[in-house]
Amino acid sequence: MRQPTLFEGTKRLVYDEAIDLTLQSLQAYGPAHDHWAIAWSGGKDSTALLTLIIHLIEVGRIAAPKTLTIFYADTRQELLPLAIAAQRITAQLAARGIAVEIVMAPLDKRFLVYILGRGVPPPNNNTLRWCTRQIKIDPMADALEARLSALDGNVLMLTGVRQGESAIRDQRIVMSCGKDGAECGQGWYQQVLPNAKGIRGRIATLAPLLHWRVCNIWDWLRVFAPMREYGGWSTALIADVYGGDEAEERNARTGCTGCPLTDKDLALDNLIAMPDWAYLAPLKGLKPLYRELRLPRNRIRKTGLEFRKDGTPAANPQRMGPLTFEARLMGLDRVLVIQGQVNEAARSLGRPEIDLLNAEEEARIRELIAAQTWPHGWDGDEPTADTPLDTVFRDGSIQPLLV
Ligand code: SF4
Repeated sequence: MRQPTLFEGTKRLVYDEAIDLTLQSLQAYGPAHDHWAIAWSGGKDSTALLTLIIHLIEVGRIAAPKTLTIFYADTRQELLPLAIAAQRITAQLAARGIAVEIVMAPLDKRFLVYILGRGVPPPNNNTLRWCTRQIKIDPMADALEARLSALDGNVLMLTGVRQGESAIRDQRIVMSCGKDGAECGQGWYQQVLPNAKGIRGRIATLAPLLHWRVCNIWDWLRVFAPMREYGGWSTALIADVYGGDEAEERNARTGCTGCPLTDKDLALDNLIAMPDWAYLAPLKGLKPLYRELRLPRNRIRKTGLEFRKDGTPAANPQRMGPLTFEARLMGLDRVLVIQGQVNEAARSLGRPEIDLLNAEEEARIRELIAAQTWPHGWDGDEPTADTPLDTVFRDGSIQPLLV
């Protein structure tokens, strides 16, 4: 495939060189594997990968594997235009006879059910980053394990991990999902997934876009992929999440709506600045809600020292723990209000509605609360974390409360 050179200068990769390198890597590693799989998040990098691979197979630039399985990682927290683009591309794939397997965490482990039903605090950067593994990696590993059990031999897992030009100098893949507008989970798919229980040793991973710069991604998604000769893909909408016409400069990281691990909701801010998506503005209430839920008044705490199985004291005496039932109900109510506000506006504007929390998930949250469910290791008789207590140190010494 020859494409026009879009960039001048010697430092930047030109578009056709980027695709050439992708082709070379696929031609070098692809034929050694009968079965390929693609981990598709619906974000820009993995969508570019998916549509390009199908296109390259369709035009005969790479040989089709015996089987190709596309796993769509649906966290239930995707930003709306990405979810819509994923639905459209799934339909386009179906029209070509290519099925997409939707991969989702089981009900009790989904982001909002786990927080509001089971009471586990929203993740943060310091102590608890349970979310990526639980809503992205583990379900993908389970889906792959099920797929592998139906196949002979190994699977080549293709991921959209990118590192731009630095990839050519440095072949290491970083876990960081804040780099160069990456999608949450990318590096994990490449590094953590192959070692997951049940699939260890049976998948190889390849990142055919590793060397792509963000400009290569946008040229593919916005200019080429939508053209009929390149597949006519519904990829243009994806740019809205990353900043519309300025997507390349803004280069927002994407992940869950209101992701508590980022300082700013850059992708959501980009979106609601556009008249078509301004009605999503109430979603800005999610991040402050997740922060608020982590406050001591909304959680319980251990009163003293805990011991590990080997008898040594745990590192963090009097640690803060799960959410109180009141906090969970407050959080549930706020999420439902936010969803209701957005969807009421959507209906009056004739725009698409959001589906952050469906009826099944809401019912399960209420059921878990009614059953007085606490995470493992907690009874619920611990005091709330804003209750003044004597301070217990790791060596067992106690500093009485100063009154
Ligand atoms: S986007 Fe944020 S909340 Fe979602 S899985 Fe990634 S780190 Fe967790």
